[in-house]
Amino acid sequence: MTNKHSSLSYLDPGRPEPWASFIEQIDRVAPHLGSLSHWIETLKHPKRILVVDVPIVRDDGTIAHYEGYRVQHNLSRGPGKGGVRFHPAVTLNEVMALSGWMTIKNAALGLPFGGAKGGVRIDPRLFSANELERITRRYTSEIGIVIGPDKDIPAPDVGTDQQTMAWMMDTYSMNVGHTASGVVTGKPIALGGSLGRQEATGRGVYIVAREAGIRAGIPISGARVVVQGFGNVGGIAARIFREHGAKVIALQDAEGAIVNPAGIDIPAALAHAAAHGSLSGFFGAEPIGADDFWQLECEYFVPAALEGQVTPQRAQAMRTRIVVEGANGPTTPAADDILRERDILAIPDVLANAGGVTVSYFEWVQDFSSFFWSEEEINIRLESIMTKAFEAVWRTALERQVSIRTAAFIIACQRILAAREQRGLYP
Ligand code: GLU
Repeated sequence: MTNKHSSLSYLDPGRPEPWASFIEQIDRVAPHLGSLSHWIETLKHPKRILVVDVPIVRDDGTIAHYEGYRVQHNLSRGPGKGGVRFHPAVTLNEVMALSGWMTIKNAALGLPFGGAKGGVRIDPRLFSANELERITRRYTSEIGIVIGPDKDIPAPDVGTDQQTMAWMMDTYSMNVGHTASGVVTGKPIALGGSLGRQEATGRGVYIVAREAGIRAGIPISGARVVVQGFGNVGGIAARIFREHGAKVIALQDAEGAIVNPAGIDIPAALAHAAAHGSLSGFFGAEPIGADDFWQLECEYFVPAALEGQVTPQRAQAMRTRIVVEGANGPTTPAADDILRERDILAIPDVLANAGGVTVSYFEWVQDFSSFFWSEEEINIRLESIMTKAFEAVWRTALERQVSIRTAAFIIACQRILAAREQRGLYP
């Protein structure tokens, strides 16, 4: 692979992914942007990067240091917005790519945010709750100089949850001297969280799958669905697919994959995973090898784990009609090309998993106005924003004869770069 980020000296050229994938996606959209492509370089240069040391006293009395990040990729359209990831594979390169995808996602949905992302390189399963609280609080304090309700608003991502957001909100509030509920989203309801936020990403995955299915003539009801990842995105998407008559025939989590051609009882699988921490040992399905998992025949395949999972090799082997990207960045650009050649429709992350940040936007608005909406109202507005965004992207793809991903990037980049152009460069 060519080194596409040579101008960013802080990146290790030997390990280009996944930032290189993001850059390649930007390069692919540039020819479709007319005169706005003059500003395209802005998307290849994150606006602000903060690397922080997160030292804590462990339960055994020793002192340990962890590395944390907050990247504000682009703030042309509003404050930064994007999750915080706790995972052992977190790197600056990864957080940069994730922040870039947030910029595109927020613009594609028309949310008044720029893009940001954070992370701490830890395996949260190896820490006690008290240690996680100390890590979260110290990390929040360290990035406190760049976050705030009108500056940059974190949220949950892989390895973080409502409790993490509660600690972040409390730490930030203690440091500024007043309760600032709007500093993070994805909080518990009691702290100014929003109804419907927790299941919003999975619900959004279902909404775009349904819209794609309507246009491609592949109804959800009766469809076979395979889901990679059984966390807050994959688990809830699987449940909602099943509620709408789909047969979820296979699941994969960090421990392995399982299959049941008759359809997996998702509520039972969710209960098993909650009780045992993973799907292993679940009675309602058979274990299956990773290679076989990727080759299962189905109508919908939902990668809802980490980035880079749909490799060119897997894209060649997959036997699905539609890929719905619940994860961020699951498909490499080369794999994307193979899916397209094979006539497999890929509904990109920046559209498919945008339900979470859309309800985060609702939460932020509710916190500002201190006036809270009903769950019904949330879901109606989510449905409306996502179906409109989908329709606009689909239309652009048809008009321009490009992939759904490129169409979503065209719409997003037009909005971001028009804002950049109208604001002008300071000084
Ligand atoms: N982490 C989620 C994402 O990747 C949600 C971000 C947010 O709500 O700000 O979209």
